[in-house]
Amino acid sequence: MTPENRNKLEARVTTAADAALQRQGYVSAIDVLRGIGWLDQSTLKRWKQGQVRHLEGGMQANLARIAEAMKLFRGWANAKGLLPSETAYVAKSSARPKLRFSVSGDEGIERNYRTHWVSPELSAKKRERIEAAANRPPELVVVLPLDPEWKCHRCGGTGDFLIMEDPGPSCLECAGLGDLVYLPAGDANLSRRAKAKSEVHAVVVRFSRTRKRNERQGLLVKPEALREAESELG
Ligand SMILES: [Zn+2]
Repeated sequence: MTPENRNKLEARVTTAADAALQRQGYVSAIDVLRGIGWLDQSTLKRWKQGQVRHLEGGMQANLARIAEAMKLFRGWANAKGLLPSETAYVAKSSARPKLRFSVSGDEGIERNYRTHWVSPELSAKKRERIEAAANRPPELVVVLPLDPEWKCHRCGGTGDFLIMEDPGPSCLECAGLGDLVYLPAGDANLSRRAKAKSEVHAVVVRFSRTRKRNERQGLLVKPEALREAESELG
């Protein structure tokens, strides 16, 4: 890379990183890669759903350019005195596999991608909140099917609920969520408690044909979590 090209890239990285820091109080590699235009929203979305093998493969730049941008980003963050915070990235599918960033899978490179840089000007409490939110796994979404004849792509069976996967809808048993029980929305207090106690939970939605969007119907939670929550509320 010529010094001139490097300076141009540095200016783009700095602009993208500054904007993200202003907006949210921390900056991730993904913010920068999105900001400089190498990563589009639909690729990012598919990667988060576990449908793209590694993020680098979906980026619009070669590996050498990506590595250079990542180095410039770290240099910028260090010069600013930002605080590194390693963040968990897990897929939005039922098995929640760890998401992979790099072609090589090298642990050092993966860590660089996972590290968020947090503003030291935020209070310790605010920093903790930001880090906790970034590390919270994405919510599982289960669908109440409109078509009663739907078929599980794994076992060919059907059921009251389905979870969307890349090849098609899966029944809860095949997705490893067969032990969860349905708690319809309505009692906010009970829902909140049951969700907090359930190590696995999913949000249940149904597509509204009139409003053309998914609407929340309730939760799926572990039966023991629901029992405990019910007994607490007497
Ligand atoms: Zn099945």
